[in-house]
Amino acid sequence: MSAALTTRRLTKTYKGVAAVDALDLAVDPGTLFGFLGPNGAGKSTTIRMLLGLVRPTSGEVEVLGEPMGPGRGMAALRRVGALIEDPAFWNYLSGRRNLEYFARAAGPDDGREARLGRIDEVLETVELTAAAGKKVKAYSHGMRQRLGIARALLGAPELLILDEPTNGLDPQGIAEIRSLLRRLADGGTTVFVSSHLLAEVEAMCDRVGVLAHGRLVADGPPSNLRASSARLRVGVDDPSRAERILAGLPGVTVETVAGVNGALRVRLAEPATPAGVNASLVQAGVAVHELAQEHERLEDVFLDLVGGASVPR
Ligand code: ADP
Repeated sequence: MSAALTTRRLTKTYKGVAAVDALDLAVDPGTLFGFLGPNGAGKSTTIRMLLGLVRPTSGEVEVLGEPMGPGRGMAALRRVGALIEDPAFWNYLSGRRNLEYFARAAGPDDGREARLGRIDEVLETVELTAAAGKKVKAYSHGMRQRLGIARALLGAPELLILDEPTNGLDPQGIAEIRSLLRRLADGGTTVFVSSHLLAEVEAMCDRVGVLAHGRLVADGPPSNLRASSARLRVGVDDPSRAERILAGLPGVTVETVAGVNGALRVRLAEPATPAGVNASLVQAGVAVHELAQEHERLEDVFLDLVGGASVPR
């Protein structure tokens, strides 16, 4: 099966500076793909190139098997739904009426009738059936985003592309979008969603590509991101002695001495293991009263990835 989305050496430069730099992506059909990167990494520029809204400086884009380019790819784009910025709605019309307008605007060749016939279904999908008759001005930010996704779904897209759909939402709004995207992907839609929040993509995506300075610095299942950065909190009776011992162990980096509750914080890489750390300390006569794997510090994982030496600028 060919990829739903492919880029090859995709590049966009603005005044000689690369916003997107030789990006190679391949997103499998039916995947929920998280496109992660800090602000300014080049996510929006990439998404705009995928949708034919920004012309690449060089490189190639293929959407649903069709190469994109001037005068090419329009048929593929009809099979794509997108939400790329805060969706604009008529505030004094209901959610349903808004969708009717957008469906009608599609034109007869673009499946206008089919779109009109799909309104109930997409409202149901985004869980806005009960609120469909309310004016959009009474909608929460999360409801507006979901209405935006409903709009993107009117054309029954095979591929859904969303640029930071959870930006500015409260935790409940985020959770709703997350479960919606998960359901869509489980139903067979390929979902490509950008975010600058690692915790968010980690919780919902099948695969994550991490972008920094326009380059892909990691690509794989979200569990791989954490694995690259295991941390351990080690509580001991003699922190400075423990530091000297740990500093000599392969794969161990001491990050903080006598941090939280007098414990050391260390980072482990191959071949170091928590058991090995414990054994070395105990053998050297250091009493260990706490050994805890810290795995919540997602921001560290992210910073390690995007701040790495492999991303010069
Ligand atoms: P992200 O979506 O990850 O926040 P963007 O794609 O918006 O990142 O931006 C990537 C870089 O490209 C930024 O440095 C931004 O300033 C620059 N950039 C984006 N669009 C333009 C433009 N139209 N003209 C000049 N620079 C731009």
